[in-house]
Amino acid sequence: MNLEIVWSEFLLMAREEAGSSIVDTWLKALTLHSWDMHSRIAYIGTPNAFVKDWVRSRYTLLFEALLPRILHVPSIRITFVDNAEQTEAQSPKEHHNTVSMPQGISIVPAIRAPQKINKIKAAESTPHSLQKEYQFANFVVGAHNSLAYSAAHAVVEKLGMLYNPFFIYGHSGLGKTHLLHAVGNAVLTRNPKARIIYQSANRFVTDFIQAIRCDRIQQFESKYRDNIDVLLIDDVQFLAHKEQTQEAFFHLFNTLYHAHKQIVCTSDSLPGDIAGLADRIRSRLVSGLVADISEPQLETKIAIIKHKAEKHGEILPNDTAEYIASVGGMSVRDMEGALIRVIAYASLQKAPITLGLAREALAHATTVHSQPIKLPDMISIAAAVEKELQFSLRILRSQERNKAVSLARHIAMYLMKKCGHASLREICSFFNRRDHSTVLYAINRIEKLKKEDPECVRTIKLIEQKLL
Ligand code: ADP
Ligand code: MG
Repeated sequence: MNLEIVWSEFLLMAREEAGSSIVDTWLKALTLHSWDMHSRIAYIGTPNAFVKDWVRSRYTLLFEALLPRILHVPSIRITFVDNAEQTEAQSPKEHHNTVSMPQGISIVPAIRAPQKINKIKAAESTPHSLQKEYQFANFVVGAHNSLAYSAAHAVVEKLGMLYNPFFIYGHSGLGKTHLLHAVGNAVLTRNPKARIIYQSANRFVTDFIQAIRCDRIQQFESKYRDNIDVLLIDDVQFLAHKEQTQEAFFHLFNTLYHAHKQIVCTSDSLPGDIAGLADRIRSRLVSGLVADISEPQLETKIAIIKHKAEKHGEILPNDTAEYIASVGGMSVRDMEGALIRVIAYASLQKAPITLGLAREALAHATTVHSQPIKLPDMISIAAAVEKELQFSLRILRSQERNKAVSLARHIAMYLMKKCGHASLREICSFFNRRDHSTVLYAINRIEKLKKEDPECVRTIKLIEQKLL
């Protein structure tokens, strides 16, 4: 087991579960220092004492929830290590069987065979993985999300009877996952015995592939079908081009639907715009109620920022909240990232939060490129490419190999890496590609073209201007 792989898998899951702002602002700075399989302690390396305290007090639960799934054990304990104090490369807990890895990482050799069994047990033992903090009560409602919000409420009240399926779509970071968990949590409040499954489509696919590999299709079907009251599937766009998984999803959908079990799905676009999704699934997904969430208006953004700040125990002055809301980015997730940076900055400076301090904190962030406050997300980049080169998102994501389309796609991939700082894996899954080398090829190609072809340079400049 390579700890770097474990760590990158963790960051991916954390991005899905906790949002990019937390990953980019805090978690990316950490390392999985070592993993002691015997005592089931994961040692997380932190760059300094401040980050160590911050992360320990806020994200321990996140580590405890996600790492066991990746490390294939039912539970783990977390110990945070301050790397600055550990410069003399002493492993936090020396172990006889410890193997050294690059970058001072060390692991206890894993015994492979029992892992699969443990993993399956761990997955089966969690009927749902709802995040408690995503509730209706802390979801700020504005014109941009009111339809989705009230429909979600109605769904809870008339489970399986009114809007089934209920489909929520909108750009990344606008609250889809929050609302999905809120539905699950509200159902549980009304009926603590309700059986709810929350799963991202990404993990649904992995789960399915693993079931095929281990010859456990029946268990897979039964896990998602039997005794289930509510099925919540997040980011269904990730089912694109996964024909076999779609087949399984289709049957599951039908069974649950006919049994009047509630199904709620989210996606970054309308089913009709997801290339590589079977027509019969598209039509099923829109057969109930479809609601969108759009970008909040400034007033709502301010309300959200204030609300989030209170959660962190901070009361923001109006001008400061307005400033963060206006520069924090298009999505709520980006704004939250900006807010967290301001709070951290104030805490480091031991100064109260004021407009001046927020300006300083965010100006610094935008110049060092260390975090994504103003970074355009992948959808915005694709949208800018679409505007400039007239290829729809659907075509860009398709397998179409026509010269012009593939150039546009390569430019989009290049910009996602260079301006959006997306990972190769994120770009791959955005374009429904399996192989990272496709993205690497695209980046190299555009870098070369930029040196040789002034037309290409001009096009990229025009697209970049659309991103500002
Ligand atoms: P999506 O799934 O659409 O990408 P998320 O649901 O993960 O977005 O939301 C990103 C972050 O923004 C989360 O921390 C979420 O709590 C917060 N958020 C989004 N919309 C709202 C809202 N209306 N009120 C409060 N928080 C919100
Ligand atoms: Mg989401």
